[in-house]
Amino acid sequence: MPDRVQQLAELTARVAELESERELTLRLAQTDSLTGLVNRGAFTAALCERLETAREAGGRLALFVVDLDRFKHLNDTLGHHAGDLFLAEVGERLRSDAGPGDLVARLGGDEFAVISDDPKVAERAQRLVSLFTQPHLIYGRQVSPGASVGVAVYPDDASDAGDLQQFADMALYRVKTQGGRRWSAFDAELRAESQHRRTLEEELRRAIPAGEIEPWFQPVVDSADGRIVGVEVLARWRHPEHGLLTPAAFVPMAEELGLIGRIDEAVFEAGCSQAAPWVAEGLIEVVSFNVSPRDLLDPSFSRKLIGRLAGTDLPATALTVEITETFLLRDLALSRRHIERLSAKGVRIALDDFGTGYSNLRALMHLPIQTVKLDRSLICDVAKDARVAKLVGSMLHAARALGVLIVAEGVEEEAQAILLRAAGCERMQGYWFAKPMPADQMETELRASRAAAPRSLCTEPLRRRAHG
Ligand code: C2E
Ligand code: CA
Ligand code: CA
Repeated sequence: MPDRVQQLAELTARVAELESERELTLRLAQTDSLTGLVNRGAFTAALCERLETAREAGGRLALFVVDLDRFKHLNDTLGHHAGDLFLAEVGERLRSDAGPGDLVARLGGDEFAVISDDPKVAERAQRLVSLFTQPHLIYGRQVSPGASVGVAVYPDDASDAGDLQQFADMALYRVKTQGGRRWSAFDAELRAESQHRRTLEEELRRAIPAGEIEPWFQPVVDSADGRIVGVEVLARWRHPEHGLLTPAAFVPMAEELGLIGRIDEAVFEAGCSQAAPWVAEGLIEVVSFNVSPRDLLDPSFSRKLIGRLAGTDLPATALTVEITETFLLRDLALSRRHIERLSAKGVRIALDDFGTGYSNLRALMHLPIQTVKLDRSLICDVAKDARVAKLVGSMLHAARALGVLIVAEGVEEEAQAILLRAAGCERMQGYWFAKPMPADQMETELRASRAAAPRSLCTEPLRRRAHG
C-alpha cells in the first residue's frame, strides 16, 4: 500500500513538472527572444481576445503601431549586434511606459505594437513618440533613430482585429511618408483611401476573369535603320468606369493580393495569340513579356511557362522574358534554375531596368542572359550629362564584351537616339519611336514599317511613330 501512495505522489509530481514545462514552452513560443515582449503570433491572438472583452464590456481599445525611423541606418553603420542592443532597449522603454492593462508586442524587425485601454489616445501616442527622442548610448555612441506611431481605435474606427491593424498601419505609413518622428490617427481621409482600395481590389479580382486586362504593345527598333524588330507586351486594365489604367494603378496591388500571377498569365495568353502571327509573317522577331518577381519565387514558374508557351503558336526562340535584377539577387540559385530551364528551350532572358539597382554585371557573366534593358532613368540624362553618357558608354562596352544585346528604354528625344546609336547601342524603345498601343494599331504600324524603305540613322532623322 505505501508503495502505491509513493507511486501516486511521484506521478503527481511528474504531472506538475510536465505542466510547468508545458507552460514554459508555451510562454517561449509566445515571446520574442530579443526583447522578451509578446511576439506577433501571440499579439494577434491577444488583440482578438481583448476586442472580445471590450465588446462585451462596451469599452474602447486603442492599437498603436510603432516603427523606428532610421533603424536600418543604425544597423548598417554600427552592425547587427548594436541593432539588437537597441531593439532590446526599445522593448525596455515600451515596457516601462506601459500601463497595467496594456499589452506590448514586437511584431518583427523594428516594428512594435501597444494595445491599450487608456482613454487619452492622443496623449499616449505623443508619449510613445517622445520615448524615442531620448538618445541611447551604444558602444559609446549616442543613437536616436526616432519613431513614428500610427493609431486606430475600437469601436470608433474599426470593429475587428484585421481592420484595426490595417487602419493603424495606414496611419503609420502616412506619417512615415511625411518624414516620421510623429504620430497620426486613422481619420476620414484614410477611410476614404481604404474604401477606394477595397473597391479597386474587388474590381481587380473580377477584372481578370472578365477579360478586362489586355496586352498593349510597344515597338523595339533596330538602331541602325529604325526598323521595328520586336515588341514589348505591357498590361493595361480597361476599367469599365475609370477607363484605361496603366500598371502603376494595379500591378503593386495585384502583387500584394497575390493576383499578379493570374494577370501575367492573362497578358501572356492574349499577347501570344496576338503577336504570334506577326512573328510567323516575319513582321517582328522578338516578343517580350514582363514577369513579376513574385512569380519567379514560385519554383515551378519556368516549367509552367514552358507548358503555357507550348499551347500557343509563338516559337520559343521568339520569346523574351524580362526579369529584374532585384529578383536575381534575392534567390540566385532559384533564378539560375529558371533561367537555365528557359534557355534550354530557346527562350531568351532580358535583365530589365538595368542601371537602377546593383547593375550586377557579374550576374551576366554567370547566367545565360542575352539581353539587358538600360533603364529610362539613365537614358533621360544621357544627352544632358556627360558623366551619364560616359557611364552608359562603359556599360555598352562591357555588354558587348560579354556578347549581350543592349536595348535602351525610354528614348524620348532624337538627341538621345543619335548619341546611343553612336555609342553602339543596338536596339531602342521609347516614346520617340512609339508609345505602347493596342494590338490592331500595332499591326497597322508593323505593316507600314515593312512597306517603308529602311532609313539610316546617320543620314536622316529617325522615323517617328508617336501615338496618343
Ligand atoms: P517596364 O518593364 O520598365 O516597361 C517600360 C515602361 O516604360 C512602360 O510603362 C512604358 O510605357 C514606359 N515607357 C516606354 N517608353 C517610354 C518613354 O520614352 N518615356 C516614358 N516616360 N516612359 C516610357 P507601363 O506600361 O506603364 O509599365 C510600367 C511597368 O509595369 C513596367 O515597366 C513593368 O515593370 C510593369 N508591367 C507592365 N506590364 C506588366 C505585366 O504584364 N506583368 C508584370 N508583372 N508587370 C508589368
Ligand atoms: Ca520591361
Ligand atoms: Ca524597364
